[in-house]
This record gives sequence, C-alpha cells and structure tokens, in this order.
Amino acid sequence: MVEEDDLRLEIPSYAFIALARRGMEKISLDQCFLNNCDNQDLNLLEPFKKEVQEEEKKIIKHIYIRCKKCNRTFILKLETLKNVAKSTRAKEEEPLSMGLVYALDEDGKNLGHIGYF
Ligand SMILES: [Zn+2]
Repeated sequence: MVEEDDLRLEIPSYAFIALARRGMEKISLDQCFLNNCDNQDLNLLEPFKKEVQEEEKKIIKHIYIRCKKCNRTFILKLETLKNVAKSTRAKEEEPLSMGLVYALDEDGKNLGHIGYF
C-alpha cells in the first residue's frame, strides 16, 4: 500500500535517549509502545493516519499506528523545532532542527517521552 509506505517514511527508525551517566542510548521506534505488548516486529505495525500541525516554531506530527499483535492503536507524536536563526541561505547547509518523540495511546493520553530524533 503506497499510503502506508509513505507514512513509514515519516517515522524515524531510531530515537535517542539521554542516560544520566552513560551517554545516549539508541532505541528502535519500530515497536509497540502500549502497556503489556512486546511487539518489535515492523511487519505487525501498520501506520494508517497522519495529522500535521504547524505552529510558529515547531511542526507536530501525529502518526497513528495499529499494532497487529495486541490489536490496539497508539500514536507517535513527533515534534520538530524549526530553525529560528536563519542567517544564511546556503543550500548545502542543513537547517538546525531537533526532534522530540512521544508515545500516546489511542485516546491521546501521553505514555511518555521516548527520546530525540
Ligand atoms: Zn502492541
């Protein structure tokens, strides 16, 4: 399904978690974040809907994902801060942005801050 593939591209493969003393830990976002579910199989995760909200300083994306293992839905909330200081127009320069990723349950209840991407 084309649409599903497009949605998959919106999801970063990994998030980084800052650990107090051990630097950063890399975790896969290809997993179900709901309680009592250990699904880490990409094939059992089906992204089916996206909502994008653009604010002055950030872009917020909600990606709805159906877990075929526990048959529930969760939401990955991706918050990207826009580059505020655009001092140069050089095209080869990557805009400075930072992303935060959260997991929400089906009702939009926050399951926690996962990390950075
Ligand atoms: Zn699940």
